[in-house]
Amino acid sequence: GFNCGIVGLPNVGKSTLFNALTATVAAQSANYPFCTIEPNVGRVAVPDPRLTILSEITHSQKIIPTSLEFVDIAGLVKGASRGEGLGNQFLANIREVDAIIHVLRCFENDDITHVEGSVNPIRDAEIIETELMIADLESLEKRTVALQKKARGNDKEAQATLELIEPLIKALQDGKPVRDVIPVGEEKAIARLQLLTSKPVLYVCNVNEEAAATGNGYSRQVIEMARKQGAEVVIVSADIEAEVSQLGKEDQTEFLSGLGLENSGLDRVIAAGYRLLNLITYFTCGPKETRAWTISEGTKAPQAAAVIHNDFERGFIACETIAYDDYVKYKGEVGAKEAGKVRIEGKDYIVHDGDILLFRFNV
Ligand code: GDP
Repeated sequence: GFNCGIVGLPNVGKSTLFNALTATVAAQSANYPFCTIEPNVGRVAVPDPRLTILSEITHSQKIIPTSLEFVDIAGLVKGASRGEGLGNQFLANIREVDAIIHVLRCFENDDITHVEGSVNPIRDAEIIETELMIADLESLEKRTVALQKKARGNDKEAQATLELIEPLIKALQDGKPVRDVIPVGEEKAIARLQLLTSKPVLYVCNVNEEAAATGNGYSRQVIEMARKQGAEVVIVSADIEAEVSQLGKEDQTEFLSGLGLENSGLDRVIAAGYRLLNLITYFTCGPKETRAWTISEGTKAPQAAAVIHNDFERGFIACETIAYDDYVKYKGEVGAKEAGKVRIEGKDYIVHDGDILLFRFNV
């Protein structure tokens, strides 16, 4: 599965957001195989209105959404890369995640201490980014020494890695995160280096209740910063989300519209996390269940099948494929078949977002 690490300075609202994300899950647990895996790791259902529409067509007994994992990574303070606080452990936790959700405090509250003494999300973002850049720089410099030794021994792989990391070191020394300088085509090679600043980032502005719908001066500064970086921003009020997560579905909608919000901040965070990771969804539909499955954009049919079961990939023959719009337009498989909208796709087929798939395989 894929996961997002929630990072930020102390007292910005990370745990509040994380708890709200996972509490929603507990509240709707009956049919949903989601849970808090560890105190700081939670699996969260990815809301997708297409599931309801599909299940109405097939009269499914059950809807099973796909899920995304969130990790609450506490303990980062200025100096973490030198081992301050839980520095090293914290950095190791970030190494394990696929993407970073960076929570920034955009709310004033004199009762809640700010470790840096004042509310300033841009400075806070820079503090964290700097710690991550220092950690990456140290890790690359360490590796360079070992690689140079091997490269002198004519180790081709070591030479190639050296060539890959030299410009990264230069960028980090210039104060640029690795994600800004990844050459086209080298994404995978760079991902293997497990650098902290190569991971995609999403900013979450945590604002007070009255700014939940509109944002505030602080969140506008963050939006401006993120625009320059090409990053996405989600505005939430973690406190409000914690309250919303305790309500039933109908009360939630009413509560949110009372605040001028169309959907919960949590839904927006989950959706943005999904986009951040370049994930797409395909469906399997039948009277028993309508189910969503997560794959990376660009995944071919056999590897998409492996998400359901490894045997599906090994024995893959073909997949019956119906585009979501066709499935809805022709009211299901039978109608789609009559309209000639069922395609038989082979092992090189790249699955599209929304495809309804039925795999044929040898056991
Ligand atoms: P963490 O250290 O980043 O995990 O921060 P917490 O989630 O523990 O939050 C720190 C404090 O800030 C708690 O007392 C929260 O109730 C409070 N808090 C979190 N979000 C908000 C918010 O949106 N508005 C206000 N006023 N307080 C918040």
